[in-house]
Amino acid sequence: MKENRILIKSGRLITEQGEEAADLLIEGEKISAIAGSIQIKGKFKEIDACGKIVFPGLIDPHVHFELKAYNSFSSDDFFSGSRAAAAGGVTTFIDFAIPSQGQDMASRIREKCGSAAQKSIVDFSFHAQITSWNPATPDDMKAAVEEGVPSFKIFMPSTEGWGVDDYGIYRALENSAALNSIVMVHAENGSIADSMAEEMLRKGKTGIADFPRARPDVVEREAVSRACLLADEAGVPVYICHLSGGKSASDLRKLKMEGRDILVETTPPYLLLNREKYNGPEGFLYACSPPLRDQEDNYRLWRAVIENTIDTIGTDHCPFKKKQKLSGGGSFADTPMGLGGIENTLELIYTEGVVKRGISPLQVMRMTSCNPAKIFGLYPRKGTLKEGSDADVVVFNPDVKKTIRAGKMVSESDWSPYEGFSVNGSVETTISRGEIIYNKSGIRAVKGRGKFLERKGFGLPAT
Ligand SMILES: [Zn+2]
Repeated sequence: MKENRILIKSGRLITEQGEEAADLLIEGEKISAIAGSIQIKGKFKEIDACGKIVFPGLIDPHVHFELKAYNSFSSDDFFSGSRAAAAGGVTTFIDFAIPSQGQDMASRIREKCGSAAQKSIVDFSFHAQITSWNPATPDDMKAAVEEGVPSFKIFMPSTEGWGVDDYGIYRALENSAALNSIVMVHAENGSIADSMAEEMLRKGKTGIADFPRARPDVVEREAVSRACLLADEAGVPVYICHLSGGKSASDLRKLKMEGRDILVETTPPYLLLNREKYNGPEGFLYACSPPLRDQEDNYRLWRAVIENTIDTIGTDHCPFKKKQKLSGGGSFADTPMGLGGIENTLELIYTEGVVKRGISPLQVMRMTSCNPAKIFGLYPRKGTLKEGSDADVVVFNPDVKKTIRAGKMVSESDWSPYEGFSVNGSVETTISRGEIIYNKSGIRAVKGRGKFLERKGFGLPAT
């Protein structure tokens, strides 16, 4: 006899085919049935989803929990970060395994897995970071794939510690194809960014309000187009992380219209915030890389969402507390870079995308769940409401109106980039592999229940 059954009644299910009014039955860790009306006998838990939207659990392909940086750590570890994720309907996150000097990728992956396995309440995986190119790197990449990690992050600014030069990027791209894996790039031109910053520092223009001028559009735009060109020559797809600029988005649209397999991620800050934030008394809090840009960029990025140029929305969740941010003394050169927000992704994208700009819940589902699952080798186990898939399910109430307040957050961060934002809709229930881990009584999951997901291959999202 099967136990642990949950019947979600009369929801608006967002499946890959679109919206469907149906019941959804969970048995054990899997979705066992989806039908117009499901009647079952015996013991089960019923969730009334009438008037609610039922999404597959979100997959956040870009987070940095307990990231060691600026002589401290980002303020959410795998426990608090995964709790914040659960409160936001995120049932899978993909973080980064960044090897320390001389360390191979596979051992770094195992280390990070060890820590996450003890703390995370949702399922997780890692991208392996390539921090240099040398004769051992191809074998290193192969070993990472064998660990269940078929995705590689490259930080393009070769002027910084983690950066890889063009030769390394090209060779990594070539190698990724043979391994049925994907390369993701943080696309910024280090030479321009560094020299611009030096120039500004020489002139004493170190305040955060000057930050966007130290990293103008060209820094991202050039690197994006270079990454795409190198990928084209290598004959492989490439994934662009956290796209921030409207011009880059237009360039990418043209390339995608030519049929190029380029996958594009953006994050809520680049859609919803702009450089005006840097002019406020707490402007330094918003230091992130790339910097927040103009309102025009917000507009153009939303257009890119509407036109399907954007494939995924990650959060790049990497919060630092006010005190940590203050350690930079207000200078853009020394302030820890990164913003939190994983628990607000769905309500923000729903409000700003569906309610205000008329995109469909289906498109939200694709960008936040189905596409990341396909690209990063988790589909169809994750990223879809389908019989046989993991029962990772979010019940979202579109009728709730609320205001985002840092004081109410699950995240350990003591401030929110979205403080005071009004949102329509809220995550009511988050189910991970058949277990209710979040609902109106809060988080109800045991530390360490999340599992490492061995991923396989990569795939392209449906167009
Ligand atoms: Zn990042």
